[in-house]
Amino acid sequence: MRCPVCGEESLSPLADFDTASSMARILFKRPGFLEPRPVFLVRHARVCRSCFAVVPFLDEQYQRKLAEEWDTLIPVAPDATPGTPPSPESPS
Ligand SMILES: [Zn+2]
Repeated sequence: MRCPVCGEESLSPLADFDTASSMARILFKRPGFLEPRPVFLVRHARVCRSCFAVVPFLDEQYQRKLAEEWDTLIPVAPDATPGTPPSPESPS
C-alpha cells in the first residue's frame, strides 16, 4: 500500500490504536448552527516505513456512516488553496 505522504510502497500492516487510553476522533461539520456534528472514531492505522507518517483508517462501521453522511459534510475551515511560494523580497 502506497504512503499518501511520501508515495513509497511502505505502509505497515494495519495496527490498532490503543482504545483504552486514546482514540482519534474526527469531527466533521454540517451546515446550520444547531446541526449535530458527525463523529467518527479512528481505531486503526498504518505507519510508513520510509517517512514514519501515521495514516489512520476508519473501520467498517464508520465507513458506512461516512458514506451515508458524505453529502451533508462541510469543511470546518476554508480549504487550503495550493499557494504560490512567497515571492522573494524585491532587490530594488
Ligand atoms: Zn511515507
